[in-house]
Amino acid sequence: MTYHRILLKLSGEALMGEKQHGIDPVRLTQYAQEIKQVTDKGIEVAVVIGGGNIFRGVEAEASGIDRVQGDYMGMLATVINAMALQSMFENHGMYTRLMAGLKMEQVCEPFIRRKAIRHLEKGRVVIFGAGIGNPYFTTDSTASLRAIEIEADVVLKGTRVDGVYTADPERDPSATRYGQLSFQEAYEKNLNIMDMTAFTLCQENSLPIIVFNMNGKGNLLKIIEGKEVGTLIN
Ligand code: UDP
Repeated sequence: MTYHRILLKLSGEALMGEKQHGIDPVRLTQYAQEIKQVTDKGIEVAVVIGGGNIFRGVEAEASGIDRVQGDYMGMLATVINAMALQSMFENHGMYTRLMAGLKMEQVCEPFIRRKAIRHLEKGRVVIFGAGIGNPYFTTDSTASLRAIEIEADVVLKGTRVDGVYTADPERDPSATRYGQLSFQEAYEKNLNIMDMTAFTLCQENSLPIIVFNMNGKGNLLKIIEGKEVGTLIN
């Protein structure tokens, strides 16, 4: 196995599946199955989930809600998604712990780095909700930061496209996918892989990122097995 401990970033929007908002149970089930395949191989899995399917801080500003307040609302949205994931993972026979960047002790544990690592060592899937717990950050930054803290081998950014392309493949049919890129190249080509905070954290800590299609059956397992899937940035 190429990777022993992974941090998987899933966007909130991905959880919508074919729906216009909220959580699609079909997609949730599919994600649980994909993750179960890798935990069955003894891989330690941590998950950071976004909240874009429910609420984004920047949207708040447009509607007259204070930005910081909106960001906290966004963080709460990620907890809703995280709880849905937790439940579905358990339905699929995985042991889980939900750790949050905000205090919500009835439903989540607080994030304590050493505890998170211990959970992973015991084979529990650790889900990080509520982002970092600070406004003006994203769940991509959360993914990079938590990955560094728990000493993950890689950040896997699960998206609905097959990797990083020369142009937006949903708009430009001539776009081609990069197999591998250096951080420097990705930066110079202005490829939007993650927001700058998240990207820089990975670069400075030599933490590789793989952008891949989480909706492709078996992709997660293939990555773990060292097969070339998506785009590797290192
Ligand atoms: N957020 C935040 N701090 C964090 C993580 C998230 O303020 O550490 C807020 C922010 O408003 C963001 C929202 O939570 O827009 C939802 O997260 P994100 O947009 O990253 O979700 P995704 O795009 O992955 O669905």
